[in-house]
Amino acid sequence: MYLKKLEIYGFKSFADKVELEFNGGIAAVVGPNGCGKSNIADAIRWVLGEQSIKNLRGNKMEDVIFAGTSTRKALGVASVIITFDNSDGTLPIDYEEVAIGRKLYRSGESEYTINGTPCRLKDINDLLYDTGIGKDGYSIIGQGQVEKLINSRPEDRREIFDEATGISKYKYKKMETLKRLEETADNLQRIKDIIREVE
Ligand code: ATP
Repeated sequence: MYLKKLEIYGFKSFADKVELEFNGGIAAVVGPNGCGKSNIADAIRWVLGEQSIKNLRGNKMEDVIFAGTSTRKALGVASVIITFDNSDGTLPIDYEEVAIGRKLYRSGESEYTINGTPCRLKDINDLLYDTGIGKDGYSIIGQGQVEKLINSRPEDRREIFDEATGISKYKYKKMETLKRLEETADNLQRIKDIIREVE
């Protein structure tokens, strides 16, 4: 699997639609300070489901929408679509190309898509779990992240290894199952109470 294309519109400094094509191999983004290089990495993080605006270098989620300049009006929507070549079947979905999309309107409304079909953030998380490219994967190493890893507490470091080895996926599924078990136990208790009342 490899990153094939990135389409950005209205995200941070990208007021015009930009399409970046990657064809395997190594790609480098170069440019003067402040031209938007890191915004490309932010766009990738964001479309993969990042929920923390701090990790996207902003204060509120709306900050990812193009805010306008002295010569250009602000936009009302930010949209990013990332396309992976999945001909090796790394992503557990029956498509050779997988396009994940995210949109955010200034009204706060947002939308996620997989190959153009609206979906939940959970569907994207499930699709990316264990592939190393999810928002918590280590496919994006931010500035200072290596230093943070070295200085982190053992428990936090453990989380990083869990993600890297694919254990997180099972921890997440276990957590979801335990939650469902708890809900079922509550329902059972309610049914028992009703039976007792009826008897
Ligand atoms: P450096 O080389 O200094 O790290 P860079 O090329 O990585 O810089 P970025 O940090 O990606 O640059 O981009 C910063 C630019 O993006 C700034 O000019 C900032 O004003 C602009 N920017 C960020 N958010 C928005 C937004 N919502 N609307 C318009 N412009 C934005």
